Amino acid sequence: KKSVSQGGVMDLPQHVLVVPSPAQGHVKPLMKLAYNLAYHGIKVTFANSQFVEANILAAMSEADKEQCPIRLVSYSDGLEACPEERNGPGLITSLEERNGPGLITSLKEVMPKNVEKLIEQINQPDNKEPITCVIGDLTAGWTLEVARKMGLKQVAVWPAGPASLALALRIPQLIEAGVIDENGMCSTKSIPGKPALQKILFDFSLAINQVVKNPIIVLCNTYYELDSSSCAMIPGILPIGPLPAISNLNPCSGSFLSQDSTCLSWLDKRPPNSVIYIAFGSTAVFSQKQFDELALGLELSGHSFLWVVRPNIVSGSSHEYYPDNFLERIASRGMIVKWAPQEKVLAHPSISCFFSHCGWNSTMEGVSNGVPFLCWPYLWDQFDNKKYICEMWKVGLALDCDEDGIISRHEIKTKIHNLVTNDGMKMNAKKLMEDAKKSVSQGGGSYENFKSLVKYLGA
Ligand code: UDP
Repeated sequence: KKSVSQGGVMDLPQHVLVVPSPAQGHVKPLMKLAYNLAYHGIKVTFANSQFVEANILAAMSEADKEQCPIRLVSYSDGLEACPEERNGPGLITSLEERNGPGLITSLKEVMPKNVEKLIEQINQPDNKEPITCVIGDLTAGWTLEVARKMGLKQVAVWPAGPASLALALRIPQLIEAGVIDENGMCSTKSIPGKPALQKILFDFSLAINQVVKNPIIVLCNTYYELDSSSCAMIPGILPIGPLPAISNLNPCSGSFLSQDSTCLSWLDKRPPNSVIYIAFGSTAVFSQKQFDELALGLELSGHSFLWVVRPNIVSGSSHEYYPDNFLERIASRGMIVKWAPQEKVLAHPSISCFFSHCGWNSTMEGVSNGVPFLCWPYLWDQFDNKKYICEMWKVGLALDCDEDGIISRHEIKTKIHNLVTNDGMKMNAKKLMEDAKKSVSQGGGSYENFKSLVKYLGA
């Protein structure tokens, strides 16, 4: 078990500013963290870019807004002239292909300056509860840099799994050992001339190393035993997950799209353990051909399913085009929504398995609810998460592409069948769920770590 070593309990009431990277998979877990802190008596303000805040507010019900225990504030990201560079499927291509002034400048210059201004505005001399600490997203290291510059306490959050952070923190050693060069290319000793990591990920990993150069607490949405070897490699890590939902509040606040809760009553009418839940997070996109194969594979499987089809999930098209008469054929056993209350769906007894892109939040939500996975990673750490799910924890199966890089309808049908008939995997998944529950219950590792965090923040 780790404990917080920096600082101590403060006498003054502490006021924390939480600042996520402006993307769905970051805002949602950090908001859950903020709710948990507020629930434990910490005063929390949550800073989003104006664009993100507008989306969140539009997706929240009036009741959610009234109940919200944290104060929402926003700052400009300066991307008014190139809004397409904001979050969404375009984000990744724009970072790599343009590398131009838009998003990169926003992240390096505009956002830090505007968050600094925001803190100055809040911390007017007559404010009796000024911000004393910034909990910043480590993928947006500038949040912590701003806090350091302003003399505020800093706590980092790593919104992905510990393995990806352990890897990022090993990059300087890999360079020193000559495995990769200073540009992230594999040296002649390993695989000559090949980028070890995508350039953007390499630069980004080096930036993380700068931030954690000084001792800092790094919160991680995991529990220690789930990946103890990676946790052990990260100085200052404080595993506090899987963060529990605050029972009387909507745990799903922070969604950029409004959640279609009608699927919950649809699930109520289905037998236990009978529905496949399919959702690929906020950024994965499919070609029309791949989308068709997925639809037809679900149909061929013969199972009931709940499928999240986000707007823009098919590349180059603002509409989804389903195979001919598909919707009529599956109407009696399939439901399609634009965005689901995912955590409530995964907790529903009718769900039998989770067909997922293996984003870290989805991975932890599946683990917390004891559901086995069908893995279809799309980019970045999702491939490593798939390995953990399939090879280390043995709670899922991966899908294989054909020679054209397509996952065929037959592969989908076969793997669904193999997974739902695999009792061993179901048992492993239930075991992980029990371990996760233990960790966040009184006396468990994540529970104790969260308590020490609250103490550190001065409640
Ligand atoms: N999510 C949701 N409804 C959906 C699909 C996803 O609320 O229909 C949430 C999900 O619960 C998770 C987040 O969106 O918390 C997605 O994060 P993840 O890390 O899994 O993937 P990313 O979007 O970052 O690729």
